[in-house]
Amino acid sequence: ADKDPLKVENSQVTVAVRVRPFTSREKIEKASQVVFMNGKELTVEHPDMKQVYNFIYDVSFWSFDEYHPDYASQTTVYEKLAAPLLERAFEGFNTCLFAYGQTGSGKSYTMMGFSEEPGIIPRFCEDLFSQVARKQTQEVSYHIEMSFFEVYNEKIHDLLVCKGESGQRKQPSWLELGNKQRATAATGMNDKSSRSHSVFTLVMTQTKTEFVEGEEHDHRITSRINLIDLAGSERCSAAHTSGDRLKFIDCSAVVGKEIHTFWLLKESLGGNSKTAMIATISPAASNIEETLSTLRYANQAR
Ligand code: ADP
Repeated sequence: ADKDPLKVENSQVTVAVRVRPFTSREKIEKASQVVFMNGKELTVEHPDMKQVYNFIYDVSFWSFDEYHPDYASQTTVYEKLAAPLLERAFEGFNTCLFAYGQTGSGKSYTMMGFSEEPGIIPRFCEDLFSQVARKQTQEVSYHIEMSFFEVYNEKIHDLLVCKGESGQRKQPSWLELGNKQRATAATGMNDKSSRSHSVFTLVMTQTKTEFVEGEEHDHRITSRINLIDLAGSERCSAAHTSGDRLKFIDCSAVVGKEIHTFWLLKESLGGNSKTAMIATISPAASNIEETLSTLRYANQAR
């Protein structure tokens, strides 16, 4: 019954919102809940001013607690938002998925997750390689390249450069290596992880071989897949409060000036591409201003 949200017409960017559950700290502090879901509508209720804000997105992932019937698992998020992008990639589109939101709202949980609860990136890789194994024939072959970068302070760092200890001959497991190097670099610089973007890219080339009158002809289709964990959206707040009606790309330029410079966004938002954004938010009253700012930004992205 689920409609593929990425097939919605006239929408350049598919926008999804994911509400994370209370953290254990918020539970201890008895944080009050200001984000609610009412059917397709997402509601934010300002506790003091008694104001109510309503939003509707292409997809809303509600994960308030394990008893909630609409709890959105990592599997649900993958299947609803990322798996359709993989289909588009096989069709030859360039695809891009961004996570956008305040630090601590669940961007890395959504994009990377943990070994027991893997997020979009590890699931995407597994799905891609198992589909390639199934689809590969004598007429169709696949070539896949992978890169994993971190963008910080307008500089790009390759997370897959193997700074292996001597004597270590083992072929690294690439995702693990990238994650480890991202974490290592963050040590000693508290706010670094909130101020850096991580860009995971897969480039898939499909080669179809045809024989015409005994001659071999190769057709190549290349699709680029960008899976991006943007820096904390709080960096963008100044622009929000100035009252500018910022468009997705402009705001991303504030958050991700570096990415913009390095062509990634431009390419992702071009003609032959499908883009999805997942805005991650906290349910707690203490985060209401950032939550509203993220939700407004997500509205403008469409
Ligand atoms: P960000 O990357 O936006 O700074 P994190 O992904 O680190 O935020 O999330 C903050 C905390 O909340 C982490 O401990 C994470 O495991 C937890 N968390 C985030 N989203 C969810 C979710 N949907 N379900 C369960 N735990 C979550």
